[in-house]
Amino acid sequence: MAQLKSMVIQRIELIHDPFLFPLSFCVWVSYMEGTCIDFHRDSFGVFGSVSEKKMGKEMAAGAASSSVTQEELTLMVKWSGKKYTVRVCGDDSVAELKRRIFQVTNVLPKRQKLLYRKIKNKLADDSLLLSQIPLKSSLKMTMIGTVEDDLIVDPVETPEVIDDFDEAVDIKDKEVNKQKMKRRIDQYKIELKTPCRKGKKLLVLDIDYTLFDHRSTAENPLQLMRPYLHESLTVAYAEYDIMIWSATSMKRIELKMGQLGVLNNPNYKITALLDHLAMTAVQSDTRGIFNCKRLGLIWAQFPEFYSSKNTIMFDDLRRNFVMNPQNGLTIKPFRKAHANRDTDQELVKLTQYLLAIADLDDLSALDHSNWQFFTENMHDRSDG
Ligand SMILES: [Mg+2]
Repeated sequence: MAQLKSMVIQRIELIHDPFLFPLSFCVWVSYMEGTCIDFHRDSFGVFGSVSEKKMGKEMAAGAASSSVTQEELTLMVKWSGKKYTVRVCGDDSVAELKRRIFQVTNVLPKRQKLLYRKIKNKLADDSLLLSQIPLKSSLKMTMIGTVEDDLIVDPVETPEVIDDFDEAVDIKDKEVNKQKMKRRIDQYKIELKTPCRKGKKLLVLDIDYTLFDHRSTAENPLQLMRPYLHESLTVAYAEYDIMIWSATSMKRIELKMGQLGVLNNPNYKITALLDHLAMTAVQSDTRGIFNCKRLGLIWAQFPEFYSSKNTIMFDDLRRNFVMNPQNGLTIKPFRKAHANRDTDQELVKLTQYLLAIADLDDLSALDHSNWQFFTENMHDRSDG
């Protein structure tokens, strides 16, 4: 504890470093009884630029979406001598069906092989919509797959997701994507680990490559943790409730975060954990079907605390916030932990940014892609 305190104080001193964090918008921090309290800052006038980016107009509906149906299907899945019922809709993808099956069987989607003799190999294509396959309600299929013990480091054969979203995409306003969101809000109940705090903003954090290098190996997972994680969360917690959202299973999230000491840290609390089942598949005319993290799921369940105005999400994959682009900040991925853990300063700098914007009434008016420019601009202003 004493060691952590001294680390936090060191970190705060770094934040105070006039080079990194000029006095003209300085943050004074008192450290008392293990919790950072009492943040003051002077007014700093103009805040960055309001983004003019729009997600672009909805393109003409493609062949896939024209055949979409919202009809609910009840399917029977036989696995390991037992029968399971799953409910899906015609505009869900095969990947979504597998996630539903995972919910009841605990067999990871990538380990599932779905068999149904009338459909041949169509169930092997995760991107297909169920409405494109002649599935009928009450249909019985067989699943082959085994429950895999969760590992802290992802299996090497898992393909790496390449974030190729370098342009605005036309996804946010598609009606079919809005409908899916409504269903997900009903299906996924966020369990609070600690109560939401009135007046706090919300910080949503990805894990892999954001807080942790999940591709490297180490004797101790702490060697793969992004530097300054605990110190940054301690400081951010004074202004933000913190949720962690990862595209893996809840078991793996709890394992990772537990091993890193995030879940029982004396200096901050985690409000909630969200896993891959909270993600929503969205359709894009140009990118096909993929899963993303829609913050609307959180806003709908805690409307008295969180909204698009007070939420910010850090993720190394821009595609994850394609449905709420004004609330997402693309963090530089933390890879090759052994080579980079002595030099990576990303969380320190982002914590400065979080504090700098914490008093704003509407975070969604900022362009988070300019976050570094924002802090540099503050520096220049202080020099001038
Ligand atoms: Mg990630």
